[in-house]
Amino acid sequence: MYKCKHFKIEELVPEKTYKTHGDDSWNLFDERILKVIDKIRDYFGCSMVINNWASEGNMQFRGYRYPGCGVGTPTGAHYKGMAADFNLYKQGKLLDSEFVSKETIKNKAKFPEVKGVEVVNGWSHVDVMLRAGQKPGTICVFGTKGFLYWA
Ligand SMILES: [Zn+2]
Repeated sequence: MYKCKHFKIEELVPEKTYKTHGDDSWNLFDERILKVIDKIRDYFGCSMVINNWASEGNMQFRGYRYPGCGVGTPTGAHYKGMAADFNLYKQGKLLDSEFVSKETIKNKAKFPEVKGVEVVNGWSHVDVMLRAGQKPGTICVFGTKGFLYWA
């Protein structure tokens, strides 16, 4: 079982999941996404926020999502423990999420586990879920309205 170097499990699962499974919540993830978020954190070298419910914040569904939680696509990568949404802060200042997503795509050789990236204003999404027909070494890039291009 891989445990993140930079994240506590509370930052990756909803409150209810943590209350039920505690430290076993690590097992709800595909190890590749856990490694990827550590690598992205290392690459950008600044603070990376996924969930913050454990520190009085209101975000809890940006890593693993349990069935029936009602957020996003029920068959999506978050429900399989294969995705994370995040924001980066450099010296307390929020980095532009589209820039972060595009920078991740540009450096895909450093993150071979990444199979999907969402380019939207507000957060960055990465996942390790292979799509039907996806070629090795490619990334499915999508936005709020769906598929954009293969990178
Ligand atoms: Zn997402």
